[in-house]
Amino acid sequence: RRRAELSQAELPAVTKDGAFRAEVVANIGSVEDAELAVQFGAEGVGLFRTEFLYLQRSTMPTITEQVRAYRRVFEVMGERPVVVRTLDIGGDKEVPYLGTEKEPNPFLGWRAIRMIRERPDVLENQFMALLQAAGQVTAAGIRCDLRIMLPMVSSVAEVERAREIYEEAWKALEAQGKALPEKVQFGIMVEVPSAALLADHFAPLVDFFSIGTNDLTQYTLAVDRTNERVSVLASPYHPAVLRLIEMTIRAAHAHGKWVGLCGELAGDPLAVPLLLGLRLDEFSMVPSSIPTIKDLIRRWSLKGAEEVAQGCLRFGLAADVIEYLKSQTPR
Ligand code: PEP
Ligand code: MG
Repeated sequence: RRRAELSQAELPAVTKDGAFRAEVVANIGSVEDAELAVQFGAEGVGLFRTEFLYLQRSTMPTITEQVRAYRRVFEVMGERPVVVRTLDIGGDKEVPYLGTEKEPNPFLGWRAIRMIRERPDVLENQFMALLQAAGQVTAAGIRCDLRIMLPMVSSVAEVERAREIYEEAWKALEAQGKALPEKVQFGIMVEVPSAALLADHFAPLVDFFSIGTNDLTQYTLAVDRTNERVSVLASPYHPAVLRLIEMTIRAAHAHGKWVGLCGELAGDPLAVPLLLGLRLDEFSMVPSSIPTIKDLIRRWSLKGAEEVAQGCLRFGLAADVIEYLKSQTPR
């Protein structure tokens, strides 16, 4: 039985009318997670959180150390795409060698891509390590499919600056005669409302978006995601969040770019027809949710899911969206 379930999990997530295929991929934060992802039928990695490399140590991880860590994950994933998110650390964590400080509002402070002004070296090192790691073939002779993603982007200027640093890293490695990957996609997380609202300005600068509904919910609704006292207010089904998701996908598709979603919403069975109906290209979640979500996607037709998504967008209250979704059955 377990074998049958696992082989089911290997099948792609195609809608029952054959009209749409979604990629179902994993969120990981370690090599162990990558192994689990493959066991659960992940078609790739939609979010590789790299914070573990920087925590619990007193000096910056060297490029060599980083290359080793990335290569271990690439070895496990083989030719499957791996979206690696650059460092997403800020004032809620103490990392003295990065220059983090205790801040009154760490989630609104100096974190993630915002380090780029004072500490461009952190991003440059990470780019150098990623490009070197992806430049080498795996033990099985496979070229990995690296995709780089920037967290917490709120302004187009951040993407432009990051791309400059990326080009510099590429040229430096080329000058050193290092092997480089053939093609690397470059994308951003859409997890700050300004990025969703200006998605049409960001889309031409990137290959893809990945919507981070955990932070997008926090920032859209002004609800601290770590404060349990207000957590009842933090629903990704809030119509304001849903509108931002819809806008983001529409703008990306108008520019021929693909969109993933790597917040917890992607692994919620209730959200399947909604996200499918908005034509979300890639669902990224904890590995153990993958078989269930793939199975649910296969039960819907694209048309049925589109009707549900349109239905969801009519409401003004998260509770009404949830009640409506609970009343829907696959069609
Ligand atoms: C998100 O914000 O939705 C996300 C996936 O990133 P993290 O949970 O790591 O902030
Ligand atoms: Mg986030």
